[in-house]
Amino acid sequence: MARKNQEVRDMAKTRLEALGFDPVEFASALFEHSDLAIFLVRVHGPKDFTYSGLNPTHERLTGLRSETIKDKHPHDFLPPDLADTIVAHYEECRQKRGTIWYEETIPFEGKDTFWITRLIPLFDEKGNVSRIIGASIDINEQKSMAEELLQLVEFNQTIISISQMGLLIFDKSGHCISLNESAQAIFGITNREEFFSHHFQDFHPLHATRWDELWTKKHFFPEVHFQNAKGEEKWIILQSFPYHHGKKDLLIVSATDITEIKRQQEELEEKNRLIMSLLRHLPNPVASFREDKSLCFHNEQFAQEFSFLHPENGITTIDDVQEALSIPKDHVYPFRKGHEILEVTIKNHKRSKHYLLEQYRIGESDTASCRILWSFSNITSQKDLIRKLEKELHRDFLTGLYNRRGMEEILPTEWKRSQRDKLPVSLLMLDIDFFKNYNDSLGHAKGDLCLKEVASVLKESCYRPGDFIFRYGGEEFLILLTNTSIEGAFLVAKRIQENLAKKAIPHPASLVSSSVTVSIGIVSPSPIEVSWQNAIQLADQALYQAKKTGRNRITRIA
Ligand code: GH3
Ligand code: MG
Ligand code: MG
Repeated sequence: MARKNQEVRDMAKTRLEALGFDPVEFASALFEHSDLAIFLVRVHGPKDFTYSGLNPTHERLTGLRSETIKDKHPHDFLPPDLADTIVAHYEECRQKRGTIWYEETIPFEGKDTFWITRLIPLFDEKGNVSRIIGASIDINEQKSMAEELLQLVEFNQTIISISQMGLLIFDKSGHCISLNESAQAIFGITNREEFFSHHFQDFHPLHATRWDELWTKKHFFPEVHFQNAKGEEKWIILQSFPYHHGKKDLLIVSATDITEIKRQQEELEEKNRLIMSLLRHLPNPVASFREDKSLCFHNEQFAQEFSFLHPENGITTIDDVQEALSIPKDHVYPFRKGHEILEVTIKNHKRSKHYLLEQYRIGESDTASCRILWSFSNITSQKDLIRKLEKELHRDFLTGLYNRRGMEEILPTEWKRSQRDKLPVSLLMLDIDFFKNYNDSLGHAKGDLCLKEVASVLKESCYRPGDFIFRYGGEEFLILLTNTSIEGAFLVAKRIQENLAKKAIPHPASLVSSSVTVSIGIVSPSPIEVSWQNAIQLADQALYQAKKTGRNRITRIA
């Protein structure tokens, strides 16, 4: 071995000299100026090593001084564990009797530093390893760069694996070489191992695309509908792009699952269709406007109901309707907030139409989706009914004549009119004779019929527009004849008696006739001097006179 050692040394020496270098000069220059941290070790025996010295680079990089470690054993100044490791390496070199190298970590100033160290054994005359030259390269920078790269790769891999986007990578032969979890879910691949056998053709709907074409440029398929390997229906956005990775050509495919979005979109569209058809078929006229007041929707009913407003151009803005409906401007959206109900009347050709207009604001104000919704309910028939009922309130149900309430409305008004116009006025107070007997003999129902008959006689006997007939009490009637003197009133009273006699309603229990008769009291006071209330009292007195003097007669108080 010593010989071999000598041979190597001689060979190097010869080679250096051939190149024009003095080996000693060369070695010293390297020792002094090389970037290698060189240390020299003396071998005393198994596991017995001491340091001879360090080159300047070693001193600079480690902060150790050549003099301080001279003749020191590693255990003299290094932590025991580190010293053990170092000694083990030296021992390996000693036993192997050849060059060895290893990567080592040396704590330095509280931080791990990384080195690649080569140990070169030198032999003595007897061929024993007597010295070791150690040369270390500082690899801290490479280490930290490698670590950073590793972290970056790990980071990217994590992102890819947790990404919602399905990612697949194919090689040029069409084999799938990688796919993340999302891609497995999208394409319905259940077995993680199984995918390695997958080919591009297996990924329906990818195979629908021409393989060669995919390698030429990026491809984008905005909406692809397909059934995956598990039989699930999927909607995806597909993208593919060729990627040159070192010497390999790869095809990267990304798939974004939009099934849920599609489903929601379809649901929304369905709802929308439903709402629109509801609105369209709603019996109420419905229209909606944007905040700029333009009309954006109306149903058939709306068109039918309001087409007359703008027969030529149709309704285009909220103002077109608002003006026609004479709704105050400050009662119309978008000026008002919330939800509101208004009553509006439209004067259409022949008759007025009444509507309840419900106004809603849908969506936030000042946003594109904001709408003003108008829904009309035609309340014309209800309005008519109310008007009729109001009239009925002043009428007697049985006879259809004005009742006491009607009398109290009409009499004072007409009395005042007669005062103003200085016109005569007459009051007739009538009472059916022996009506209690009529009821008692023929029954209450017949009594009611009799009252109706008498009422119709009164109506046909007083036909001037200024004549008003009131049912004053049970079988008592009051007649107001405006612009009529006492003579006129007397004529009317006579006419009543005659018409009643013609009707000849049988009255078996009457003591004055075989048919129904009435007693009538007439007064014709000056409306200026006598109040209507007092006039009634006077008429009542006249009636009392008629009763007292035999019934079926007319008594007048001038
Ligand atoms: P007189 O000739 O003095 O007027 O006698 P009379 O029986 O008509 O008078 P009285 O005031 O004693 O009786 C009035 C009767 O009228 C009492 C009641 O039985 C009847 N009457 C009042 N209102 C109604 C009604 O709405 N229907 C019926 N069937 N009878 C009524
Ligand atoms: Mg009476
Ligand atoms: Mg009576």
